[in-house]
Amino acid sequence: MTSHNKHPQLFSFEFYPPKTEEGVVSLQSVRNQLAALKPDFFSVTFGAGGSTRDKTLDTVIDIQSKGILAAPHLSCVGSTKDNIRTILKNYQDNGISKIVALRGDLPSGMLSAGEFRYANELVDFIRAETGDDFQIHVAAYPEVHPQASSAAEDFKNFKRKVDAGANAAITQYFYNADAYFYFLDTCEKNGINIPIVPGIMPITQYAQLFRFSEMCGADIPRWLRKRLEGFGDDRASIQAFGAELVTQLCQRLLNNGAPGLHFYTMNQAAPTLAILNNLELKTDA
Ligand code: FAD
Repeated sequence: MTSHNKHPQLFSFEFYPPKTEEGVVSLQSVRNQLAALKPDFFSVTFGAGGSTRDKTLDTVIDIQSKGILAAPHLSCVGSTKDNIRTILKNYQDNGISKIVALRGDLPSGMLSAGEFRYANELVDFIRAETGDDFQIHVAAYPEVHPQASSAAEDFKNFKRKVDAGANAAITQYFYNADAYFYFLDTCEKNGINIPIVPGIMPITQYAQLFRFSEMCGADIPRWLRKRLEGFGDDRASIQAFGAELVTQLCQRLLNNGAPGLHFYTMNQAAPTLAILNNLELKTDA
């Protein structure tokens, strides 16, 4: 595979912490299958307000015990400085060296009593408390964060996180590659040269994908929506079409400056493996 990058290719896989014992066992199998591809790291999400705090840490420790780098996400909304300090200390004590630092979204009805408003404040705090102990990844939104007052303001806010000391960014998923390329150009024009790794969401069904995309501001182009709807309940066709479409997207991204790919696996191995096998990123690649 060819690519034109200034950074080596970075591959990572995201999980959410399982809620049940069966989920834990199933994730171990998923992790083993994906580990064969030798990713740079696995990341594990963190419920805003600290709802998954222990489960995120347990999952990360379990991954690291198999000799694979794992990065916990850490969302700050609704948290106090003391809460975050304790979590950082816990991460340090467990040999964690990479964090995905986020604001998070509080569940509706939960009032924020926290001391952080935005992710740039969390990045500032992590650097002030722990210096360069952690590599910090932050979120980026090529299609603009849904609460942003404008694309320009959103970009300024992204830059605050970089200026606060982020080492890399992972984007919200998207199916419009041009939005990502435009974002990369804007970064370059603004002197931002950290890796901006595209977040990739495999397509395996559509009702949930539409709902989720609506909430997080990921655009599903009309033609894609129509194609997916047209498959009705035919899951196999949706998955085959989705794998082909997302493979093409990944290929285009890698060939035009993406420094790697971050997969939102939804705790499943097959959809991500299908794409990576299509891309011929095999174990020995
Ligand atoms: P911010 O960067 O703080 O931005 C949020 C909004 O505030 C934007 O509209 C921005 O323009 C604006 N803003 C930012 N800074 C300022 C400022 N200083 N002044 C004024 N306005 C500002 N959520 C979870 O709860 N747990 C997870 O594990 C998780 N993982 C994620 C991983 C990735 C790769 C991505 C892309 C998202 C993830 N999310 C997660 C979702 C994320 O928490 C939401 O998208 C959330 O709404 C924004 O988080 P952020 O860190 O991007 O926030």
